[in-house]
Amino acid sequence: MACQLAAEGVGYRYRGGQDAVVGIDFAMGAGVLGLLGPNGAGKSTLMRVLSTLTRATTGRVSWNGADIARQPDALRRELGYLPQDFGVYPSLTAREFLQYLAAVKGLHSREVGERVVDCLAKVGLSDAADRRLGDFSGGMRQRVGIAQALINQPRLLIVDEPTVGLDPEERMRFRHLISDLAADRLVILSTHIVSDIEASATTLAVMSKGRLLYFGPSATLLLQARGHVWERTVTESAVPAARAGRVISNSLRVEGGMKLRIVASESPSDDAILCVPDLDEAYLWLLARDGAR
Ligand code: ADP
Repeated sequence: MACQLAAEGVGYRYRGGQDAVVGIDFAMGAGVLGLLGPNGAGKSTLMRVLSTLTRATTGRVSWNGADIARQPDALRRELGYLPQDFGVYPSLTAREFLQYLAAVKGLHSREVGERVVDCLAKVGLSDAADRRLGDFSGGMRQRVGIAQALINQPRLLIVDEPTVGLDPEERMRFRHLISDLAADRLVILSTHIVSDIEASATTLAVMSKGRLLYFGPSATLLLQARGHVWERTVTESAVPAARAGRVISNSLRVEGGMKLRIVASESPSDDAILCVPDLDEAYLWLLARDGAR
């Protein structure tokens, strides 16, 4: 079954406000699209447009070739959405909650039981199906959120800032879950944390100030950032001067001072050594380059 999402010149302007999303172009099929950008970049606005909650003010979004503004139901039938502020009913069990949502989404009553069991299994909550949601950890609640988004077997799964409030182990588990779900569907995951998508995203999209700064594999972005990350060790007293006006990606206390990693288009000092960027640094370089324009 096809799952092809395409945006052509998509823009969104809030009433009386500025442009929140400007000239977005991309196309993607099955896989994980990691949408990365600082707060206010326009990620949530774009996600709302892609999920038909709001209509683009310019441009066009198509799902398997059909314009989603003209035929929103074609996409909605195949859409699973986990918003940022996903709330649960603490007194319901996971099974009851999913049964309730399946009914709201219009599933036939004879398929509800099986779908609920299947979705709980997919997110690793079969054993907790009859426990009350009020007793769930943040990570378990987030998995219930994914389970409800999967109830209609979506081809497009949109997840907004999913790891907020999760502990490191839960985050890791969540990333594996997302990778597993992307085998035969398109998963779009928005975050401002690079490590959320480092392992799972097949394609990376970076937004800033409403625009798409980068769209492609993370490996290509890493290559582009080569030659722009430096390392130098300075004494304690020289740290403020070495940091001033610089993008510092990492600092490590070492004997006699600090080892700094600096993102810069040119060497920051004679003693700086060029190093291989990681994805965090490639992202910082992209944002810094955009800011300097
Ligand atoms: P992100 O999800 O990347 O943090 P958003 O899509 O929430 O970014 O916001 C993009 C821009 O749109 C920001 O400048 C934000 O202030 C503005 N914005 C978001 N929601 C509204 C709204 N309801 N009305 C007006 N402006 C908004």
